[in-house]
Amino acid sequence: MLKEDKILTLLKEHDIRPSYQRIQILGYLLEDDNHPTADIIFTNLQTLTPAISRATVYNTLNLFEEKGLVSTMTADKFETRYDLYTDEHGHFVCKLCGGIYNFDYKYHDAYEELEGFDIEKEEILVKGVCKKCK
Ligand SMILES: [Zn+2]
Ligand SMILES: [Zn+2]
Repeated sequence: MLKEDKILTLLKEHDIRPSYQRIQILGYLLEDDNHPTADIIFTNLQTLTPAISRATVYNTLNLFEEKGLVSTMTADKFETRYDLYTDEHGHFVCKLCGGIYNFDYKYHDAYEELEGFDIEKEEILVKGVCKKCK
């Protein structure tokens, strides 16, 4: 599928009206699978699309999250990072290259001790040195 078609299909599937900026931002997310922050997305898009504003990027990402098109995680500090992979998954963060890798994670037995709690979001974060950097 052409990238442009893929973008329009994804937006349609998530009930999001396509606009020039939304197409640009989703296009960027399809290229960068290292869980970019809103700032990284903004900085990269700005060179191609000078008219884009930081607020538009933030608002669009919030909309994407609301509609279930992206998932979010925080690797360090408190910066939200965005991922088009929305199934439950854990993250491995490499302390040398900053790479963020997805891995499938299903270990709900660990929640036995949290019986009676309402769990709203799980973030499984593993840190270390990735294969490439070793
Ligand atoms: Zn690495
Ligand atoms: Zn992820």
